[in-house]
Amino acid sequence: MDSAADHKKSMPMRPQRYLQQSSQYEPEGIVLILPLEQTEASVLQGWGARPDNHAPQTYNGIPLKGHPGVDLLAAPNTPVLAAAEGRVVEISRDPAGLGFYIKVEHLWGESLYAQLGTILVESGQHVQQGDVLARTAALRNVPCHLHFAVRFLPYNRFDGWGGFSDPTPFLYVAELIQPDEETAPDAAGLPELLVEPPNARRP
Ligand SMILES: [Zn+2]
Repeated sequence: MDSAADHKKSMPMRPQRYLQQSSQYEPEGIVLILPLEQTEASVLQGWGARPDNHAPQTYNGIPLKGHPGVDLLAAPNTPVLAAAEGRVVEISRDPAGLGFYIKVEHLWGESLYAQLGTILVESGQHVQQGDVLARTAALRNVPCHLHFAVRFLPYNRFDGWGGFSDPTPFLYVAELIQPDEETAPDAAGLPELLVEPPNARRP
């Protein structure tokens, strides 16, 4: 007969360090707000979209398996908001198509905001959920949008997604309108993504 003590003995032992990490980085505990100052958003290009177009683009030399983020339609100059509390750790420009971007570090990983116009924060700045980070850019030849993605610790930049994950399951938004073949803006109008320049450090 199994006693409680016997059952406990048969359970595999987990190192304490692992237990601490798993509670600290549990993705289920993550609540993200729509990183745009609007109540609803339409998705121009969803997570994993257009694998053929993204394959020539690489992250650390690994071809992408698809669109490594979510493109949310927004009017030019729409405030871009911090999806969660954190610290601005990087403000730069991606040489391979994401344009100007901001990266915010969180306890659970990081969030990326790209295709930005005016930047309104400084590197190292602590931001609360909902703080304005930047404004969307007026893009040429492409509907104006925010490219948004998250990385959950521990992530792997060599996984074919640059270590990014789909943020939509964690996004608390009144309405997230998924692309529809009838109504969505023409994603075919998006420019060919550039091949990653040699030794480029991608966000
Ligand atoms: Zn994108």
